[in-house]
Amino acid sequence: MNAIEVKHWFRRYADRILEKKNELTDLDSAVGDGDHGVNLARGWKAIGNEMETFDGGVSDIFLLVSRTLISKVGGASGPLYGTAFLRMSAVLRGKEQIGKDDWPGLLKAGCEGIGQRGRVNGGEKTMYDVWLAVTEAAEKKEPEEATLALRLLEAARKKAEEIIELQATKGRAAYLGERSIGHRDPGAESTVLLFEALHDTVSNPGGRP
Ligand SMILES: [Mg+2]
Repeated sequence: MNAIEVKHWFRRYADRILEKKNELTDLDSAVGDGDHGVNLARGWKAIGNEMETFDGGVSDIFLLVSRTLISKVGGASGPLYGTAFLRMSAVLRGKEQIGKDDWPGLLKAGCEGIGQRGRVNGGEKTMYDVWLAVTEAAEKKEPEEATLALRLLEAARKKAEEIIELQATKGRAAYLGERSIGHRDPGAESTVLLFEALHDTVSNPGGRP
Protein backbone atom coordinates (compact mmCIF):
# COMPACT_ATOMS: atom_id res chain seq x y z
CA MET A 1 0.00 0.00 0.00
CA ASN A 2 1.64 3.22 -1.13
CA ALA A 3 1.19 6.75 0.23
CA ILE A 4 -1.68 7.53 -2.16
CA GLU A 5 -3.56 4.42 -1.04
CA VAL A 6 -2.89 5.19 2.63
CA LYS A 7 -4.42 8.64 2.06
CA HIS A 8 -7.44 6.98 0.40
CA TRP A 9 -7.75 4.73 3.45
CA PHE A 10 -7.76 7.63 5.88
CA ARG A 11 -10.13 9.72 3.73
CA ARG A 12 -12.53 6.79 3.61
CA TYR A 13 -12.23 6.37 7.36
CA ALA A 14 -12.91 10.09 7.86
CA ASP A 15 -16.06 9.69 5.71
CA ARG A 16 -17.16 6.65 7.76
CA ILE A 17 -16.64 8.47 11.06
CA LEU A 18 -18.67 11.46 9.85
CA GLU A 19 -21.44 9.12 8.63
CA LYS A 20 -21.49 7.22 11.93
CA LYS A 21 -20.94 10.18 14.24
CA ASN A 22 -24.40 10.07 15.82
CA GLU A 23 -24.35 6.30 16.16
CA LEU A 24 -20.99 6.41 17.98
CA THR A 25 -22.26 9.20 20.20
CA ASP A 26 -25.36 7.17 21.08
CA LEU A 27 -23.20 4.17 22.00
CA ASP A 28 -21.04 6.38 24.20
CA SER A 29 -24.10 8.01 25.78
CA ALA A 30 -25.22 4.58 26.95
CA VAL A 31 -21.94 3.70 28.69
CA GLY A 32 -19.85 6.87 28.95
CA ASP A 33 -20.07 10.61 28.43
CA GLY A 34 -21.50 10.65 24.91
CA ASP A 35 -18.63 12.44 23.20
CA HIS A 36 -16.96 9.66 21.16
CA GLY A 37 -18.66 10.43 17.84
CA VAL A 38 -18.32 14.20 18.16
CA ASN A 39 -14.68 14.00 19.23
CA LEU A 40 -13.61 11.58 16.50
CA ALA A 41 -15.56 13.51 13.87
CA ARG A 42 -13.72 16.71 14.79
CA GLY A 43 -10.33 15.04 14.42
CA TRP A 44 -11.07 12.96 11.33
CA LYS A 45 -12.76 15.82 9.50
CA ALA A 46 -9.51 17.75 9.87
CA ILE A 47 -7.47 14.70 8.79
CA GLY A 48 -9.74 14.13 5.75
CA ASN A 49 -9.06 17.71 4.65
CA GLU A 50 -5.30 17.36 5.22
CA MET A 51 -5.25 14.18 3.09
CA GLU A 52 -6.46 16.15 0.06
CA THR A 53 -3.18 18.04 -0.24
CA PHE A 54 -0.59 16.36 1.99
CA ASP A 55 2.22 14.78 -0.01
CA GLY A 56 4.52 13.20 2.57
CA GLY A 57 5.46 9.53 2.68
CA VAL A 58 3.59 6.77 4.52
CA SER A 59 5.35 7.39 7.84
CA ASP A 60 4.65 11.15 7.62
CA ILE A 61 0.97 10.46 6.94
CA PHE A 62 0.65 8.35 10.09
CA LEU A 63 2.52 11.04 12.04
CA LEU A 64 0.16 13.76 10.78
CA VAL A 65 -2.84 11.63 11.77
CA SER A 66 -1.35 11.08 15.22
CA ARG A 67 -0.68 14.78 15.80
CA THR A 68 -4.12 15.80 14.60
CA LEU A 69 -5.85 13.23 16.81
CA ILE A 70 -3.85 14.24 19.86
CA SER A 71 -4.52 17.95 19.31
CA LYS A 72 -8.17 17.80 18.19
CA VAL A 73 -9.78 14.75 19.80
CA GLY A 74 -10.41 14.99 23.51
CA GLY A 75 -11.41 12.32 26.00
CA ALA A 76 -9.54 9.05 26.15
CA SER A 77 -9.83 8.20 22.47
CA GLY A 78 -7.61 11.06 21.17
CA PRO A 79 -4.52 10.01 23.14
CA LEU A 80 -5.20 6.30 22.58
CA TYR A 81 -5.60 6.49 18.80
CA GLY A 82 -2.92 9.19 18.68
CA THR A 83 -0.44 6.86 20.38
CA ALA A 84 -1.34 3.99 18.04
CA PHE A 85 -0.71 6.10 14.92
CA LEU A 86 2.49 7.55 16.40
CA ARG A 87 3.90 4.06 17.03
CA MET A 88 2.85 2.93 13.56
CA SER A 89 4.54 5.98 12.04
CA ALA A 90 7.80 4.95 13.73
CA VAL A 91 7.57 1.42 12.27
CA LEU A 92 7.14 2.88 8.77
CA ARG A 93 10.03 5.35 8.95
CA GLY A 94 12.15 5.13 5.80
CA LYS A 95 9.66 2.92 3.96
CA GLU A 96 8.16 3.84 0.60
CA GLN A 97 5.06 1.76 1.20
CA ILE A 98 3.40 -0.70 3.55
CA GLY A 99 4.40 -4.09 2.19
CA LYS A 100 2.37 -7.23 2.78
CA ASP A 101 4.91 -8.39 5.37
CA ASP A 102 4.83 -5.06 7.21
CA TRP A 103 1.25 -5.40 8.47
CA PRO A 104 1.88 -7.67 11.49
CA GLY A 105 4.61 -5.40 12.91
CA LEU A 106 2.65 -2.26 12.06
CA LEU A 107 -0.52 -3.37 13.81
CA LYS A 108 1.41 -4.82 16.73
CA ALA A 109 3.07 -1.43 17.31
CA GLY A 110 -0.30 0.34 17.26
CA CYS A 111 -1.83 -2.26 19.54
CA GLU A 112 1.03 -2.05 22.05
CA GLY A 113 0.80 1.74 22.04
CA ILE A 114 -2.88 1.55 23.01
CA GLY A 115 -2.19 -1.13 25.62
CA GLN A 116 0.51 0.96 27.28
CA ARG A 117 -1.29 4.30 27.04
CA GLY A 118 -4.55 2.81 28.30
CA ARG A 119 -2.90 0.41 30.76
CA VAL A 120 -4.93 -2.52 29.49
CA ASN A 121 -4.04 -6.13 28.76
CA GLY A 122 -7.18 -7.34 27.03
CA GLY A 123 -10.56 -8.46 28.31
CA GLU A 124 -11.46 -5.05 29.79
CA LYS A 125 -14.00 -4.40 27.01
CA THR A 126 -12.11 -1.61 25.24
CA MET A 127 -10.85 -0.84 21.74
CA TYR A 128 -7.67 -2.68 22.73
CA ASP A 129 -9.50 -6.02 22.50
CA VAL A 130 -10.24 -5.33 18.84
CA TRP A 131 -6.70 -4.12 18.08
CA LEU A 132 -5.32 -7.27 19.67
CA ALA A 133 -7.63 -9.52 17.63
CA VAL A 134 -6.65 -7.72 14.42
CA THR A 135 -2.95 -7.97 15.27
CA GLU A 136 -3.26 -11.71 15.86
CA ALA A 137 -5.14 -12.09 12.57
CA ALA A 138 -2.36 -10.20 10.74
CA GLU A 139 0.24 -12.68 11.94
CA LYS A 140 -1.28 -15.44 9.81
CA LYS A 141 0.32 -15.53 6.38
CA GLU A 142 -1.87 -14.39 3.52
CA PRO A 143 -1.10 -14.54 -0.19
CA GLU A 144 -2.68 -11.17 -1.03
CA GLU A 145 -3.34 -7.84 0.58
CA ALA A 146 -7.09 -8.01 -0.21
CA THR A 147 -7.39 -11.36 1.58
CA LEU A 148 -5.41 -9.99 4.49
CA ALA A 149 -7.65 -6.91 4.76
CA LEU A 150 -10.74 -9.12 4.77
CA ARG A 151 -9.25 -11.27 7.52
CA LEU A 152 -8.47 -8.17 9.60
CA LEU A 153 -12.00 -6.83 9.14
CA GLU A 154 -13.60 -10.14 10.07
CA ALA A 155 -11.42 -10.41 13.18
CA ALA A 156 -12.34 -6.86 14.20
CA ARG A 157 -16.07 -7.43 13.72
CA LYS A 158 -16.01 -10.75 15.54
CA LYS A 159 -14.19 -9.34 18.56
CA ALA A 160 -16.41 -6.24 18.76
CA GLU A 161 -19.42 -8.60 18.90
CA GLU A 162 -17.81 -10.93 21.47
CA ILE A 163 -17.03 -8.18 23.95
CA ILE A 164 -20.66 -7.01 24.08
CA GLU A 165 -21.19 -9.71 26.68
CA LEU A 166 -18.19 -8.64 28.78
CA GLN A 167 -18.36 -6.37 31.80
CA ALA A 168 -16.27 -3.23 31.28
CA THR A 169 -13.44 -2.88 33.78
CA LYS A 170 -11.65 0.11 32.26
CA GLY A 171 -12.75 3.59 31.20
CA ARG A 172 -16.01 5.32 32.06
CA ALA A 173 -18.06 2.24 31.17
CA ALA A 174 -16.47 0.50 34.17
CA TYR A 175 -18.53 2.76 36.47
CA LEU A 176 -21.62 0.94 35.21
CA GLY A 177 -20.35 -2.36 36.60
CA GLU A 178 -22.58 -5.23 35.52
CA ARG A 179 -24.89 -2.83 33.70
CA SER A 180 -22.15 -2.45 31.05
CA ILE A 181 -22.87 -6.04 29.95
CA GLY A 182 -24.89 -6.10 26.74
CA HIS A 183 -23.64 -2.72 25.47
CA ARG A 184 -21.33 -2.21 22.51
CA ASP A 185 -18.04 -0.45 23.22
CA PRO A 186 -17.78 2.81 21.23
CA GLY A 187 -13.98 2.57 20.81
CA ALA A 188 -14.25 -1.03 19.61
CA GLU A 189 -16.87 0.07 17.07
CA SER A 190 -14.80 3.00 15.77
CA THR A 191 -11.85 0.60 15.42
CA VAL A 192 -14.00 -1.76 13.31
CA LEU A 193 -14.73 1.19 11.00
CA LEU A 194 -10.97 1.74 10.53
CA PHE A 195 -10.64 -1.81 9.20
CA GLU A 196 -13.81 -1.50 7.11
CA ALA A 197 -12.19 1.53 5.46
CA LEU A 198 -8.97 -0.44 4.95
CA HIS A 199 -10.85 -3.31 3.34
CA ASP A 200 -12.75 -0.90 1.06
CA THR A 201 -9.48 0.71 0.04
CA VAL A 202 -7.62 -2.45 -0.92
CA SER A 203 -10.75 -3.81 -2.65
CA ASN A 204 -11.23 -0.58 -4.68
CA PRO A 205 -7.75 0.89 -5.00
CA GLY A 206 -8.81 3.38 -7.67
CA GLY A 207 -10.46 5.89 -5.38
CA ARG A 208 -13.20 6.59 -2.90
CA PRO A 209 -16.46 4.65 -3.03
MG1 LIG B 1 -16.48 9.48 25.88
